[in-house]
Amino acid sequence: MKVLILGAGVVGVCSAWYLSRAGHQVTVVDRQPNAGLETSFANGGQISVSHAEPWSNPHAPLRALSWMGREDAPLLFRLRLDAALFDWSWRFLRECTPGRTRDNIRDIVRLALYSRDALGRLREETGIRYDHLERGILHVYTDQKEFEAAIEAARIMREFGCERYPVDVAKCVEIEPALSATRSILVGGDFTAADESGDARVFTQNLAGLCRDRGAVDFRFGVTVERLLAAGGRIDGVTVRSEAGRETLRADAYVAALGSYTPLLLRPLGIRLPVYPAKGYSATIPLSADSDAPTVAMTDDGHKIVFSRLGQRLRVAGTAEFNGYNTELNEVRCQALTTRTHELFPELRPAGEAEFWCGLRPTTPSNVPFIGQSRLPNLYLNTGHGTLGWTMGCGSGRVLADIISGKTPEIPLRGF
Ligand SMILES: Cc1cc2nc3c(=O)[nH]c(=O)nc-3n(C[C@H](O)[C@H](O)[C@H](O)COP(=O)(O)OP(=O)(O)OC[C@H]3O[C@@H](n4cnc5c(N)ncnc54)[C@H](O)[C@@H]3O)c2cc1C
Repeated sequence: MKVLILGAGVVGVCSAWYLSRAGHQVTVVDRQPNAGLETSFANGGQISVSHAEPWSNPHAPLRALSWMGREDAPLLFRLRLDAALFDWSWRFLRECTPGRTRDNIRDIVRLALYSRDALGRLREETGIRYDHLERGILHVYTDQKEFEAAIEAARIMREFGCERYPVDVAKCVEIEPALSATRSILVGGDFTAADESGDARVFTQNLAGLCRDRGAVDFRFGVTVERLLAAGGRIDGVTVRSEAGRETLRADAYVAALGSYTPLLLRPLGIRLPVYPAKGYSATIPLSADSDAPTVAMTDDGHKIVFSRLGQRLRVAGTAEFNGYNTELNEVRCQALTTRTHELFPELRPAGEAEFWCGLRPTTPSNVPFIGQSRLPNLYLNTGHGTLGWTMGCGSGRVLADIISGKTPEIPLRGF
């Protein structure tokens, strides 16, 4: 089958890989000059099944209210006249009940475990490299209430197969000696030994190379999707614009993997996807040779910040701001990342200035993505991966390839 994938972020490229392995003739288009240059560019770098608790959980409404108006708040809703944001926020609140949170954790853990496993197999099969480390993920807490709240979420994750276990402060320091200078402010932690880290952009671009070389996937960069054309209840083509002008691309099946921009292109077809951009920031800090920066990937849960060691760099990322499609860097939010980094790791010894970046997570109210057939039978979705698109990328690509190939996916799809 001829498949046209719209979007070459980590999700679109993983879809291309598994679809080409399944024998399909695949073309990928993206407006950027290479793969992985938007939200998949400088994310937190964590392959974190242990991050399966969605932002929408029973603690979220009060936390978000208490942070309201604080420029450096981990979760910041900016008040704006935006019907999509109102609708999304209402749905988000409905996902905050204990029952919905539990169901969402179950669905996210299931896909994330499947995906982490698929990534490992892909690594074995191809030898792909991306500064990856298999040293686990350590969640640390400096606030007793946050720690207690996390114990329940970790318990639910364990029930569904994610091996995230509580550890005391001494064990935190044993796992990651870079924490020894700040041991006195820690109240506890939990550790997921099988979680991983790595550079999502490098992975995405290297996998795109493998798709081209081993799967004969055709990538067309610098091509902007303008419109999906529907006729007779199906997609009949996609109008795109590039330096060469405007043209219509046709295929048997179409995959929308446009990250946060997917709902904008589907709306004219009458498909309203509750995917809203949640802006997050990262700082990439170059490290000196004698730096005591962590090598185990870490999450500072209270501040919603993650740390991943990428070779001689430390990636610090996190926080979320709901402010439409705005991609300007906010100085206060950038500094909040580096300030917290130096609080936790005073012996960091950077080798230069941090490089700041922000990206728009394609976020559903439940953090469960949309994967599968839309109501137009030859239009498929692979989008809405929110905080975990890198973690769930390989699994989502595999599941989608099975669906398009008419096979039953290896994991149940309830909730997707
Ligand atoms: C600060 C931050 C930290 C994060 N940390 C982690 C983490 O540690 N672990 C994790 O698993 N996830 C993390 N994420 C989430 C993860 O980065 C995203 O879920 C993932 O990158 C989404 O991938 P995607 O392919 O859906 O979207 P994208 O990477 O945005 O890809 C969409 C593609 O569509 C293209 N496109 C859009 N519109 C058009 C158009 N009209 N025409 C042509 N092309 C178009 C874009 O150019 C882009 O390449 C983080 C995100 C942020 C912002």
